[in-house]
Amino acid sequence: MNNRQLFLNHLGQTSDSPLCLEIVKAEGCTLTDTEGRTYIDLIGGISVCNVGHRHPRVIEAIKKQLDHYLHIMVYGELVQSPQVRYAKALADHLPSSLNSVFFTASGSEATEGAMKLAKRFSNRTQIVSFRNSYHGSTQGALSVMGSEYWQQAFRPLLPDILQLRYNVFEDLDMISDKTACVIAETIQAEAGVLAPQDGWMQALRRRCNETGALLVLDEIQCGFGRNGTLWAFEQFGVVPDILLLGKALGGGMPLGAFIADKRIMDSLTHDPVLGHINTFGGHPVCCAAGLAAFSVLLDENLAGTVREKESLFISQLKHPAIRAVRSRGLMIAVELPDFETNKKLIDELISQGVFTDWFLFASNCLRIAPPLTISLSEIETACQMIIQALNKMPG
Ligand code: PMP
Repeated sequence: MNNRQLFLNHLGQTSDSPLCLEIVKAEGCTLTDTEGRTYIDLIGGISVCNVGHRHPRVIEAIKKQLDHYLHIMVYGELVQSPQVRYAKALADHLPSSLNSVFFTASGSEATEGAMKLAKRFSNRTQIVSFRNSYHGSTQGALSVMGSEYWQQAFRPLLPDILQLRYNVFEDLDMISDKTACVIAETIQAEAGVLAPQDGWMQALRRRCNETGALLVLDEIQCGFGRNGTLWAFEQFGVVPDILLLGKALGGGMPLGAFIADKRIMDSLTHDPVLGHINTFGGHPVCCAAGLAAFSVLLDENLAGTVREKESLFISQLKHPAIRAVRSRGLMIAVELPDFETNKKLIDELISQGVFTDWFLFASNCLRIAPPLTISLSEIETACQMIIQALNKMPG
């Protein structure tokens, strides 16, 4: 039996039509399949590989850590230098109130931990989230997901969740002194790259201040330079009470984190003690890899290269079938008439050697979120292939 058949028979599936592409190597911005065909990777593992696949400094850091230890003890008991050094580096590049890092093994777990922390710290129960938001697939994170379509089959979910419309000022009045926290993506990714309209993020911050609700910003997808600044929230002049990170945090290894002021974070240490625990959060090898990737991001000023690359994509993506292009840095949604057109385009692109997909809540939009290291010539080639593929498609 070949690997494709084994994959279909023995791996839990997420849809009845998986891509079934078998990749044998990933390097920089290029994927190579079993036939030796190469693909320009326009999605970087969905915003994971911001410094490219297998960056030499990331590989070196992993190898170095392998010579010391892998897993030794559950998160939070032992002083493990990769965790400590990475937490310090993150704190050094965040506003001073975001100084305490709780590492998890995934983005969803970061969401879970943040919601528990907000409830525990505030002694309140209500959690507010926004339509078309995505914060993960575990039951707590699913409870704040902004889509009944994905929630309905799994109800009952968490009680006391209030869902508001993203970008609608008047809805913010519904945040009250019963609200433990408001969770929002700084830029809504799966909605098809939806950015806050002028003043909305600031109004959200103000409303949280007025009511004492904690503001949780999810930068699991939009953090780490993707929007042209290290953190997306910098562009709005606000600071969250809790920041969620994941994806690029691990440099290609599984890692998530929720980050808050120590004063808030310490409420998980008592009543009850061990208020939030996990085994693999902050795995030493993942932290070593993540710290190396973070250093590359800073040393190579990758965030500073994003705007030029974004402009190049925008200038090249012109075609009658393209309804709109929404972008925040290298997080780009190319809007097409419908899902069928998008799916045909994606399949054609994959057959031509460009790897991409669509968004969860915007299935008519083509996703472009490549490694930030993508070169200008790779962008030009990918765009030419997109336009050629659109030209080939019937009217
Ligand atoms: N929040 C956002 C904004 C995400 O994009 C994702 C993953 N797509 C998550 C949370 C959940 O992260 P994970 O898949 O690592 O659990």
